[in-house]
Amino acid sequence: MTDTLTTLYCANHPNTETSLRCNNCEKPICPKCAVLTETGYRCKECVRGQQKVFDTSQWYDYPIAFVIAGVLSYAGSFLAGFLRFFILFLAPIIGVAIAECVRWAIRRRRSPQVFLTAAVGAALGSLPLLAITLTQVIVYGFPGSGLLGLLWRLIYAFTVTTTVYYRLRGINIR
Ligand SMILES: [Zn+2]
Ligand SMILES: [Zn+2]
Repeated sequence: MTDTLTTLYCANHPNTETSLRCNNCEKPICPKCAVLTETGYRCKECVRGQQKVFDTSQWYDYPIAFVIAGVLSYAGSFLAGFLRFFILFLAPIIGVAIAECVRWAIRRRRSPQVFLTAAVGAALGSLPLLAITLTQVIVYGFPGSGLLGLLWRLIYAFTVTTTVYYRLRGINIR
């Protein structure tokens, strides 16, 4: 640790000696200027900047993201039954489309929690038909086509949910 060997002065208080640095921008900061975050000490500017980037969501973005992702995912899950094998190719596209609709509806506001809420909505939206297919397999015992149909629905649910989440995150955290 070279920090303890060289004398640093706080960026905001030129007369205050310190051994702390902001772990984001490396700026020397005195204990008065340091903010303890989940990831260590940071300067106030970085903490403020981070909040601006990561959390601009309004409370109503949560129900909007949830409902839109849920309804579209439910609508898309009907396709999984018809398309069967081709759902492998279509599910990621549906996921991207859902993410883009959500992003547009919440006016590009962002927060990790809203992305998660959209993903949960997408997961729940794919569940009704999945549950019906599962019931059919259990109750009526379709060993061949039933299990395969269940597989397509599982693939759809998983792909759409993860695509929605990562698409929203990937685009927003730049
Ligand atoms: Zn900083
Ligand atoms: Zn200071």
